[in-house]
Amino acid sequence: MVEDLNRNPRFCIDVHTHLTDGIFQLTINDVIERARASNVKAAIVVSESISDFEPVLNLCNAYPTFILPCLGIHPIQSTGSKDERGIDIKRSVNLKDYEGVEKFIEKSLETIGGIGEIGLDFTPRFCKSNDDKEQQKSVFSKQVQLAQKHDLPIRSTVLAHAKTEKHARAKRKNCTDEEQGPSKKQKTIDLTKTVSSEERNNICKELVSAFAAANTPLSKVDHPAL
Ligand SMILES: [Zn+2]
Repeated sequence: MVEDLNRNPRFCIDVHTHLTDGIFQLTINDVIERARASNVKAAIVVSESISDFEPVLNLCNAYPTFILPCLGIHPIQSTGSKDERGIDIKRSVNLKDYEGVEKFIEKSLETIGGIGEIGLDFTPRFCKSNDDKEQQKSVFSKQVQLAQKHDLPIRSTVLAHAKTEKHARAKRKNCTDEEQGPSKKQKTIDLTKTVSSEERNNICKELVSAFAAANTPLSKVDHPAL
């Protein structure tokens, strides 16, 4: 199916956008027009925190035939402060961030297309303690349960990755390695590069190329490694 679309790209749907980001504030109409002209028929717009919920729904009201909104809170949240380079300082999500989320989502069920962007991100510089990890898991779990309760799809980087053949191959490889016991080579890999870190680096390289081509600052990329 994907190969057919690549050979004959009649249309596509962007399943992961952050079009309420401030970077698009002045050019959103232009961005959507250019996307439409490139055969993008629709875009799923996700939120990252509860403060994004209203803007995501407002964007949907402005472009009801193009935007499909998803509401949810991301495992990594902005502190609202910036570092010396002007980049947002981020931290792990906590249960306080989740206050009001269910109420808002449940009153928006007629409008939204799913729950997102949610997931798990234990990058040490954001997720600094066991308590951070437990709160992140709890927020994720509550949102998954909310999606199940209302039979809504989930937009999640964790789940999307876990379904890929690449992930399955890496998992199969790890299982085989575990069954055979740690080899000398395996020990070296554990200390330097894991399968997932190599995969993450490859994804980063692809993202950097794509964002550079689109003249988008890397500070706008939500990948934790960038
Ligand atoms: Zn995202």
